[in-house]
Amino acid sequence: MDKKNWIIEADRHFMHTYNRYPMVLDHGDGVYLYETDGTKYLDFAAGIAVFALGYGNKEYNEAVKAQVDKLLHTSNYYYTEPAGDAARDLCEASGMDRVFFTNSGTEAVEGALKLARKYYYNKHGEADSEIIAMDHSFHGRSMGALAVTGTKKYREAFGPLIGEVRFAEYNNLESVACLMNEKTAAVILETVQGEGGIYPAAKEFLQGVRKLCDEKGILLILDEIQCGMGRTGTMFAYEQYDVKPDIITVAKALGCGVPVGAFAARNEVAASMVPGDHGSTYGGNPFACNAVRTVFDLYEKLDILNHVKEMGEYLFGVLKDIKAEFPELIAAHRGIGLMQGLELKVPVGPVVKSCIESGCILISAGNNVIRFVPPLVIEPCHVDEMAQVLRKVLSECK
Ligand SMILES: *Cc1c(COP(=O)(O)O)cnc(C)c1O
Repeated sequence: MDKKNWIIEADRHFMHTYNRYPMVLDHGDGVYLYETDGTKYLDFAAGIAVFALGYGNKEYNEAVKAQVDKLLHTSNYYYTEPAGDAARDLCEASGMDRVFFTNSGTEAVEGALKLARKYYYNKHGEADSEIIAMDHSFHGRSMGALAVTGTKKYREAFGPLIGEVRFAEYNNLESVACLMNEKTAAVILETVQGEGGIYPAAKEFLQGVRKLCDEKGILLILDEIQCGMGRTGTMFAYEQYDVKPDIITVAKALGCGVPVGAFAARNEVAASMVPGDHGSTYGGNPFACNAVRTVFDLYEKLDILNHVKEMGEYLFGVLKDIKAEFPELIAAHRGIGLMQGLELKVPVGPVVKSCIESGCILISAGNNVIRFVPPLVIEPCHVDEMAQVLRKVLSECK
């Protein structure tokens, strides 16, 4: 069957929740992806900021395969070494004290919200708390995470969601302050907004929110699912703000391809959950956790954080030049490390599509932003290759 007919056939069986590109990906190598027919792509999306180590890292692949032969799953009634090690590594890397492993980002957000509500309940003796979230935020597709997601079109049709969520304007401290009251359990925000269009928190904003939360006994949940795990040049983006959250959520690059997420908290907060309060059959199984501990090992071995700092600067320079070359097409350039965006004055969809057709996979964010979230192991030559494609495509837009 040719590719076109194969796709038509496959589309008969998928629920139509995605408009997929007509590509049938087959294998990866380093920062390149290949279709079944051999077509090659430079990957500047990393499976939406997941594949930090690139494709085919030998040590990672071997660790994953070895765990398949050893033990895939146990349930959480017992201990396994991979889970214990992964929890320790995540605590050490994040400055949090206790971890709960999930299977996805959205579940990590659900857990974080439950933890915040339980903390409030223990303190107030009543389950009547409120959550403050941000406009243009993205926290996932399950009911709780959706309820704190700031894009109305994602939420609208699915109500009633969890109630008592108030939305503030990101990077506007006053708008957060005026929503706080004695019922506020937590403020949840992304340290760098991803899906919403690559908006880093302003330092005064995040520090201001932390201060307000401290004054009022409100928990600060930082969603680092996209911006965490080294993407901004520090293991977690909040490290660059001198801010310590009470709860964090992590996923995407945590398992570098193996589906796993986590929420973690400082001791006093984590202590509000007791046996029976939360659980997951798969969550934190030895297969996923062995991937997690291997990811942490490899980050250290490959000195990923310093590499991201260097490559982030390099990418920043290249995108800055491109912005200067196409002032009629590009409105803004933002981001930290290997999480950057170019805000376009023209529709982003056709630009991304042309880039893919020219051999470079890019993705969009928000309404009109090209999002650059490549594997963290990219080299300058890959940035140059992407830039060449992007320049060609932008020139054709003129
Ligand atoms: C991707 C993402 C999520 C949701 O993660 P899933 O694994 O898709 O459920 C939540 N928050 C942020 C910031 C994300 O980027």
